[in-house]
Amino acid sequence: MSYQFRDQSWPMLKEHLEKDSLLILPIGTTEEHGLHLPVDTDARIAEAYGHSLAQALAPEIPVLLLDTIRYGYSMQIMRQWPGTIVVRSRVFMDMVFDVCRSVLDMGFTKLALLDCHGHHSGPLNTISRELCDACDKAIAIISPAALSRDEYVAIRKSKQGGSIHAGEWETSLILHISPEVVDMSKATDMDIMRYHSEFVAGDGFSGRQRVVWSTWYLQSSTTGAYGDPTVATAETGKLILDAATANGTRFLREFWQKKDMVTLAGL
Ligand SMILES: [Zn+2]
Repeated sequence: MSYQFRDQSWPMLKEHLEKDSLLILPIGTTEEHGLHLPVDTDARIAEAYGHSLAQALAPEIPVLLLDTIRYGYSMQIMRQWPGTIVVRSRVFMDMVFDVCRSVLDMGFTKLALLDCHGHHSGPLNTISRELCDACDKAIAIISPAALSRDEYVAIRKSKQGGSIHAGEWETSLILHISPEVVDMSKATDMDIMRYHSEFVAGDGFSGRQRVVWSTWYLQSSTTGAYGDPTVATAETGKLILDAATANGTRFLREFWQKKDMVTLAGL
């Protein structure tokens, strides 16, 4: 039985509605990722993470995986390299809002977004609150970077600043997911982030950044990367995906099981 939303007929979806199936919507983007990674890196990670979560959850709870959103918002500064497709931030927000609203209006109550691109964090956060106002349902947003942070920090080989964009974290994941699209002979550490301060986390994945200050304006990049991909390995990538899946599965199980949510109607 397929867990992919697109494979279902409407009567099958009606059965999923009766089971209150958990919906997962992976969101990546298409943008340059240095000399050695494909432009769909974020979308590819989003899709792989979605499959990994759905496969892990399917034996326990009813789950449906929506198609990955592969285009989104990136800042103008990233268009200096070919491959960055930019959907204006408000258009992106409206599109994601409408996709989410469609499934919530269908009657699904448990929807989780997979945030797999740094520039989307703010817009997705806002959308989740707008959906509360519009649909009286609270969706969840999870990020494989945040949910693999501790495990990754314990085994990473790169120094601080080695994992912001197209560095060790992302390169390891793509080496694990689809090594055929990585050209490690082109990987270079020349654009490792050299600026550090107590207020700016050394790596975007850390989830510990205490202020908002765009990395892209702190140091120019020659190759379109910020980090050190040369030490990336498929083994590290597997550990990252396994950790993000284990932690994500634990959260999504809890998210799905909590049925006594507060609603406006209940006030
Ligand atoms: Zn990326």
